[in-house]
Amino acid sequence: MKHVCALCHQEFENAYRMLVCDDCYNRILQNMEKSEPGICPVCGVHSDAILRNPRKKFCGKRCHHIGHAVISRKYRMDHSQRIREMKKTRLEKKKARLRRKRSRIDEIALIGKYMDKSYGITRMLLQQRADQEGISIDIAIAAVRQERGI
Ligand SMILES: [Zn+2]
Ligand SMILES: [Zn+2]
Repeated sequence: MKHVCALCHQEFENAYRMLVCDDCYNRILQNMEKSEPGICPVCGVHSDAILRNPRKKFCGKRCHHIGHAVISRKYRMDHSQRIREMKKTRLEKKKARLRRKRSRIDEIALIGKYMDKSYGITRMLLQQRADQEGISIDIAIAAVRQERGI
């Protein structure tokens, strides 16, 4: 949907029901970060009202409205990005866990075959060793493989 930017009046593709175009959005964000005293971050006009009142950020109702739309869009974008990243790392962790589990099963089976013992017994022996030496089962597996040259 085409929309006219409330600030620079250029037409833009309005994907987020924004009042302003991306150029203005980015400029307003930058201005808010810099936050020069007495300058409205939306329209760039000098305002005595902002200068006098430290809680006042925008020169008037219109800029207040636009400014808050920018803030909430940024919040939404940051938020959805964080959710995406969290989902991604969770999935990767799960995959790594599965890989580790699968390779551990393979290794225990390999050691069992070598020692001519069942998977269950081998696993139990490895777990015993891990407990005795206070190491993880993965390290116990690696130690046994190294000792026996498996
Ligand atoms: Zn604009
Ligand atoms: Zn303004």
